[in-house]
Amino acid sequence: MTAFDMVIANGRILDGCGNPWFLGDLAIGRGRIAAIAPPGTLQGQETLDVGGRFVAPGFIDVHTHSDLSILVNRRAESAVRQGATTHVIGNCGMSPAPVNEDHLADMRHYWGRISDQPEVTWDWRTFDQYLQTLQRGGLSINVASLAGHAALRMAVMGLDDGDPTSAELDIMRGLLTEAMEAGAFGLSTGLVYPPGCFAGTDEIIALSQVASRYCGLYASHIRGERETILEAVAEAIRIGYEAGVPVQISHNAPKFGAPCDATANLRLVEEARARGQDVTVDNDVHTDLGPPLSGGLPQHIQERPVVEIAALLQDPNTRCQIREEIVLDRRPAFGPAGLLKHGQWHRITILHAPQSQGVVGKTIATIALERGQDPFDVYFDLIIVSGHDAEAIFDYIDEANIRILLQHPAVMICSDGQVLAPYGFLNDPPPYSPCSYGEFPGVLERYVRDEPVLTLEEAVRKMTSFPAQRFGLMDRGMLRPGAWADIVVFDLERIRDRATSLYPHTYPFENYPHRYPEGIDYVFVNGVLVIEGERHTGALPGQVLRHRVNAHHESGVTGNR
Ligand SMILES: [Zn+2]
Repeated sequence: MTAFDMVIANGRILDGCGNPWFLGDLAIGRGRIAAIAPPGTLQGQETLDVGGRFVAPGFIDVHTHSDLSILVNRRAESAVRQGATTHVIGNCGMSPAPVNEDHLADMRHYWGRISDQPEVTWDWRTFDQYLQTLQRGGLSINVASLAGHAALRMAVMGLDDGDPTSAELDIMRGLLTEAMEAGAFGLSTGLVYPPGCFAGTDEIIALSQVASRYCGLYASHIRGERETILEAVAEAIRIGYEAGVPVQISHNAPKFGAPCDATANLRLVEEARARGQDVTVDNDVHTDLGPPLSGGLPQHIQERPVVEIAALLQDPNTRCQIREEIVLDRRPAFGPAGLLKHGQWHRITILHAPQSQGVVGKTIATIALERGQDPFDVYFDLIIVSGHDAEAIFDYIDEANIRILLQHPAVMICSDGQVLAPYGFLNDPPPYSPCSYGEFPGVLERYVRDEPVLTLEEAVRKMTSFPAQRFGLMDRGMLRPGAWADIVVFDLERIRDRATSLYPHTYPFENYPHRYPEGIDYVFVNGVLVIEGERHTGALPGQVLRHRVNAHHESGVTGNR
């Protein structure tokens, strides 16, 4: 009997397809799963007896923003430690390629402080060059990328408001063609962020037609996830229909201010599916977000230099106008801004405010009370004093909606986080991003084990085979001979997310700064051991995955119409 490279013996094998676990051995050879057989029957040059722990496909995180942070931390610490073996990047319209020299400054500004890190060389221009940069230095996890609409638009129009001319649109289509040829998995949009929010539906349809020719998908952070959530879901579905592309609605939990609970947006998805349109959803299980306070300002102000923002807020007239604009919210701002619009100041807890004494850990409501000030004034003053460094935890999602989404068969689990590490630039200062460290363990701990909302098999399906299917990664996301050996071994009894702090918050925050989760014992990527208990092996076996279709796409694949 030939010995395999490695045998994971005596596991409770979860195949990723939703089937009940079974006891077995799993052999790895040449990066792939070589065999699966009854316990005690396979021999390896190395054997890892996991003694009844769960053996599952590595988690595929379809919604992340690791585009630049994985260049800074190629070990992908926060991701691989929670069992993620593949990240989809380029989400919410934000990909760092293509880059047009003339708008490189806009691009760098868009990505913020990380742009200045030495590892972020900005020496790529095309999408292909960026993917090569990713692969060249090695990665601990696999990465698949979408082409971001904001990047395409910025390369042609900078941060301009308004519609592109037909010549400009043609250039954008050309850039997307190039990205799809290079292996982008589709097009993403972020229709609440500048410059995505400046684009009309027709522009997105015209671009999605390009993605359609390459059998890519359309992934969208839709045009408002609160008051306009149903119209925004309908727009995404219409774009998919008109362009003939599958639709992935990103992190589709209704945010504070929505007129309905998640059953309403999911009903639109169900209706589209009943008509034969391929529409699916992803969501993460956190109720909060930790952005800069300046993110709550109207979009056309956010992109200005900090000193200009401060000057605008200092002027009593413009301050008043800005406040009015936030409340009117005519061009829907991102989710957390709903807390400003609806005066939910007790749901905004200050996380960083470098220049202000004694405000960290307090809500805007409390500070306003202490200072005898209007909460809006407190909010604006903190921005004036600390600029983009003023950050808060915005608790803007009702947990009941997270449960509804978790139970829906067309909803997969994502983090909406990014590769982080509790050391170096990525921890200076420690960002508030529980999903980046604790998404998958948190689901297993809180929604499978402690207070079951879904079964273990179903949770794992939503983390593995379902996202793999959505992105056409047909040889990942399930445990079958021949599939790539992306594997996580975990102990459900010991699983513990050490990054999430539940609302309402107590200060110091419970799990902040974040720690790695417990109970994720081994992680293999393409057959190579990356996590061994507490230890990262330093291995960089990850692959940059490229979307490939057969050559007949030039004739125009009509997609799912
Ligand atoms: Zn988003």
